[in-house]
Amino acid sequence: MAQLSPLLKQATPVVVEHGEGAYLYDVDGNRHLDFTAGIGVTSTGHCHPKVVAAAREQIGKVIHAQYTTVMHQPLLKLTERLGDVLPAGLDSLFYANSGSEAVEAALRLARQATGRPNVVVFQGGFHGRTVAAASMTTSGTRFSAGISPLMGGVHVAPFPYAYHYGWDEQTATKFALRELDYLFQTMSAPNETAAFFIEPMLGEGGYVPANPEFMAGLRERADKHGILLVLDEIQTGFGRTGRFWGHDHFDVKPDVVLIAKGLASGFPLSGIAASKELMAKAFPGSQGGTYGGNAVSCAAALATLDVIEEENLVENAAARGTQLIEGARLIADKTPEIGEVRGLGLLVGSEFTKADGTPDTALAAAAQQEAARRGLLLLTCGAYSNVVRMIPPLVVTAEQIDDALAIWAETVATVTGSK
Ligand code: PMP
Repeated sequence: MAQLSPLLKQATPVVVEHGEGAYLYDVDGNRHLDFTAGIGVTSTGHCHPKVVAAAREQIGKVIHAQYTTVMHQPLLKLTERLGDVLPAGLDSLFYANSGSEAVEAALRLARQATGRPNVVVFQGGFHGRTVAAASMTTSGTRFSAGISPLMGGVHVAPFPYAYHYGWDEQTATKFALRELDYLFQTMSAPNETAAFFIEPMLGEGGYVPANPEFMAGLRERADKHGILLVLDEIQTGFGRTGRFWGHDHFDVKPDVVLIAKGLASGFPLSGIAASKELMAKAFPGSQGGTYGGNAVSCAAALATLDVIEEENLVENAAARGTQLIEGARLIADKTPEIGEVRGLGLLVGSEFTKADGTPDTALAAAAQQEAARRGLLLLTCGAYSNVVRMIPPLVVTAEQIDDALAIWAETVATVTGSK
């Protein structure tokens, strides 16, 4: 009998039968509170009736119509609709299927448009597992281990991860920007640098938000040197952070925005948004793909955008996010093993640290496992996998947050032996 690749380890033993809202039901009939949301994908909850209806209707019309061969209506409508929510001026879209493909598309665009070879990424950033995206990923050595030679032209600058450095935010920010200027002198001259690729908040790298001063510093340098500011909003977009875009927290204007995950409630769909002028600089024929912009995915994305608006999910993410982070901080206050609780909106991470200040990977893993045993599905993140992260769907209720926090409090007490 064929078996799954042994390296594809599951974070939990759950085999799902069906899902509804914030819950997953397993094949044995157990209910689980899903605070992973398919790694930040099912923002409208599992099987939102409106998303299901839109997808069903589209399946009956046309499933696949390759959009560089023939155009289809859901893609046209989605493009128009995204124009309403994207930053002003980013009025041209290219569609793909996964986050990694969107990253690669933006990389091609940046190099072709500027004629420059290098990109600057930020320590702890995650951009995907395809070889170019993995070459740009520094949230853990596991993502590029054994696949060298990696793509060239990638330079890594510090991200203002204040807790890690043991500094305050201001010092961390000053350091990170100074190092970036130093990198321009030592590694990649500004006129050789095509783009900055950055997440508004490190996702896989440990749930570390950037800050307004740092982002303004990047914008300033991008403007000064003709470098493109590419914001990877794959995990932070579509209301996830309690604002529509992660970068709305920092008031910075990007040149390119990468979208995926929360865009289509679980149907594969990603994209890049840029100005028409910039997008026109991509070399003909270099962007494309058989499945990108799938008709059913686009119909689901349209329904997703409707649900986000009609059910005020951005506002809900902000309110429930405050409830979640405050609750998680109260638990951390009683737990010396949790060094910091960070996040924006419904992206909340608790970082486990040993008494000597080093990362406690084992305890984070134990907490994740114990929470799963108690019916709360969570994941870990961070270079050392020592941050337990909570990413509930944006439809999560106040009661469900309370339930999750109650389980989390019990979980933490159990694994730290304080109970
Ligand atoms: N960028 C970010 C910020 C992500 O969080 C992810 C996925 N976790 C990706 C890119 C890659 O997306 P995918 O797994 O769909 O290729």
